[in-house]
Amino acid sequence: MSLTDITTRLARAATEAGRPPGDITLIAVSKLQPPARVEAVLKTGHRAFGENRVQEAAGKWPEWRAQYPEVSLHLVGPLQTNKARQALDLFDAVHSLDRPRLARRLADLAQERGACPALFVQVNTGAEPQKAGVLPDDLDGFVAECREMDLPLAGLMCIPPVDDEPAGHFSMLRDMAARNGLPGLSMGMSDDFETAIAHGATHVRVGSAIFGARDY
Ligand SMILES: *Cc1c(COP(=O)(O)O)cnc(C)c1O
Repeated sequence: MSLTDITTRLARAATEAGRPPGDITLIAVSKLQPPARVEAVLKTGHRAFGENRVQEAAGKWPEWRAQYPEVSLHLVGPLQTNKARQALDLFDAVHSLDRPRLARRLADLAQERGACPALFVQVNTGAEPQKAGVLPDDLDGFVAECREMDLPLAGLMCIPPVDDEPAGHFSMLRDMAARNGLPGLSMGMSDDFETAIAHGATHVRVGSAIFGARDY
């Protein structure tokens, strides 16, 4: 697999769904990838990247950002409240807003800076005990709470349970976004991004299918 293959598959999935391919942002998730692979993708002109740890992103992205100022960087992994300030220095979007305390912290920082990254509320669509995310039943209340804090919500994000058919989770997320008036849907990874596009994904987060297996 490579970036070109994924871009081709993304465009085909979009067309089959009757959607313009340009409506879907391909986030290349570069966590734990050797720098040479990331640089190769940067050199093709691709500019949307994702990381799942603040610390790891802080170690590698400032230099690439200086070199490629049009990069947009997405935090797709969990955010600890005490790393929120550092996250806002690094990221253009946060896909893991999942609790009131973090919302409050981001709202305070946004106020202080006069700017806020695009925010996606992570929903634990499978209600898995070990997984982050707002429970489906709590979502509408949480969205209302964020709006009271003037937080700019871009949409919803989910990571379906590994053993489930993802389609049901994607359509659940789409319904929850629609009823809350949220346009963005961050869903779909290497194994299921085409299904996610069929269900309305606006942001797909693809790692290993672009870069190859991660180096743990
Ligand atoms: C790692 C990661 C991805 C990308 O996973 P792949 O299976 O390599 O495509 C997407 N989303 C999140 C939240 C991740 O942590």
